[in-house]
Amino acid sequence: MHDLKYYNDIGFKCGLEIHQRLSTEEKLFCSCSTDSSNDTQVGKVERRQRAVAGELGAIDRSTSFESSRGRSFVYNVFKRSSCLVDIDEEPPHQVNARAVETALRFASAFNAKLPDEIEPMRKEVVDGSDPSAFQRSMMVAYDGSIEVNGRSIPITSIFLEEESSGIVSSKGDAVVYNVDRIGIPLVEIDTDPSISTPAEAKEAALKIGTILRLTGRKEGNSVASEVQRGIGTIRQDVNVSIRGGTRVEIKGLQEIESMDVFIENEIERQLKLIEIKQNLLKKGASVDKEPTELTGLMKHERGRIIKDAVSAGAVVLGARLRGFRGSLGAEIGPDRRLGSEISDYAKMAGVKGIIHSDEDLSKYELSDETVSGVMEKLDISDSDAFIIIAAEKGACEKAMGYALERARMAMAQVPPETRAVADSKKGNTRFMRPLPGGSRMYPETDSEPIEVTESYYNEVKRHTIYMEERIRRISKELGNAQISEQLALSTRLALYEHITSEVQGINLVVAATLLEKLKELERAGIGVELHRDVFVDIFRRYSKGEITKAGIGEVIRHSPISPGDVSRIIKEHSLARISGDELKKMVDRLATGAKADVMREIMSKYRLNVDGEELSSLIGGRK
Ligand SMILES: [Zn+2]
Repeated sequence: MHDLKYYNDIGFKCGLEIHQRLSTEEKLFCSCSTDSSNDTQVGKVERRQRAVAGELGAIDRSTSFESSRGRSFVYNVFKRSSCLVDIDEEPPHQVNARAVETALRFASAFNAKLPDEIEPMRKEVVDGSDPSAFQRSMMVAYDGSIEVNGRSIPITSIFLEEESSGIVSSKGDAVVYNVDRIGIPLVEIDTDPSISTPAEAKEAALKIGTILRLTGRKEGNSVASEVQRGIGTIRQDVNVSIRGGTRVEIKGLQEIESMDVFIENEIERQLKLIEIKQNLLKKGASVDKEPTELTGLMKHERGRIIKDAVSAGAVVLGARLRGFRGSLGAEIGPDRRLGSEISDYAKMAGVKGIIHSDEDLSKYELSDETVSGVMEKLDISDSDAFIIIAAEKGACEKAMGYALERARMAMAQVPPETRAVADSKKGNTRFMRPLPGGSRMYPETDSEPIEVTESYYNEVKRHTIYMEERIRRISKELGNAQISEQLALSTRLALYEHITSEVQGINLVVAATLLEKLKELERAGIGVELHRDVFVDIFRRYSKGEITKAGIGEVIRHSPISPGDVSRIIKEHSLARISGDELKKMVDRLATGAKADVMREIMSKYRLNVDGEELSSLIGGRK
């Protein structure tokens, strides 16, 4: 980790896009269920896609790149969670009012301004993840801010948009998606690029996530959470650039914990690529315009990898990278080299990767004769490098085209890219596609603009509970800063609020149970996601003295998921509290023993049934 001055000096800029799925029951522009668990597939649709000109006329760089890959896409359609709107065979229905309300609630939480009208737009998506080739998106607010360590970070815009579909498989040119997830409402919160260090990026992301989770809708005494929880329901894209480098978007980070590591690695990658570029320019490097066919040379190759490929009909192409020796193998991050970057580009054509001369070629079982044959044919000198690709002719040519394009970029610039997580432990990324330009939005003419009146917005705000208020309230109730903070950040805050609004005076016990006991049970492999009213029932019995604090966990362990007969559970598992006269009789029966022995004997047998404090006061008071 470096200090602020270091990041200033290298011209570090960083901005965030946080995507959070909302917890509405229906999708954004149709009535499909947002819960696809146990849904059944009822069919599939196949599409081919090609790029069309966006609003600004130019075909977007990333768009034409994707369509140049000429792939076909299959979309699996489900019973409850997909419909004709989702596959673009029917116009969108009325916008989901509840989702708009939530987005406005967030707008107020980030102190953002509202536009005169919320206008649904189509955002072009030509990576195939959307059967309609667009995603609906609308800006609901702009010009807000968050505070991080006393510094204000501008929130440039807040969007309400449709979730994309989930990829099922991708084999060569055939990609399969599920359209159950598509169209679920999500909000996107964008910061400007003024984040000044990787650590600050992480804190800003945490803050935004917390605001989204803790801003809720007041419903009687409870608070309705507005967002989905769990893996994949919040994703963060991070934009990083440095002076002399370029803007790179790291897409789909799911764990905030390692965000700073990813950013540090991206800085390092760009610095190394700049260094490689300067080296290449110094050496007067150049890249072959056209690849050379090497298939004939490989005919007698005995190494299994090439031999199998060639006998299966593959061609082998090679190209010389003049002056690149040593640069392909130069490390640019954990387990990443310029060679891996070039390989990523080639893989977009569906090939397995490239072989390059800075690698240990023996791992491809290439014989020395073959290697010298290749070097002779490509006219390789001491300072040169070469790359080889073996694949079916069409794919091989395409892959070589991409690889050589990337090699040329090494001499020109750090390419603007969207990158995906390659290894979440190492914090490194791989090339996904060129960074999209700005020409991807056009108006959604099938949907009316939404007018937000001042009185409606005020009404939304009146029914909103904000993060600050919620945290203040629980810390006042609990009187324990550490537990309050844990609870505020936990997934069970809404459950805590529900239980304590139904059963008063036992807040600390509820908090401790939800934070500690449930974790313990989960670790033991016990399902604890009971209906909230089951929890209310259990805590009410505790509050009435029917069970002890120590017994709560056991009752939870044996309770049904949906509301049922908790008293039967208590009886069956002998978990009823023993107190008052009954406990006194028990103490009297053992009256001859020393106080400590009586205590120990009773607690060893009735740990879950006896309240320690009550017992100790009974023993203490005994004559
Ligand atoms: Zn639908």
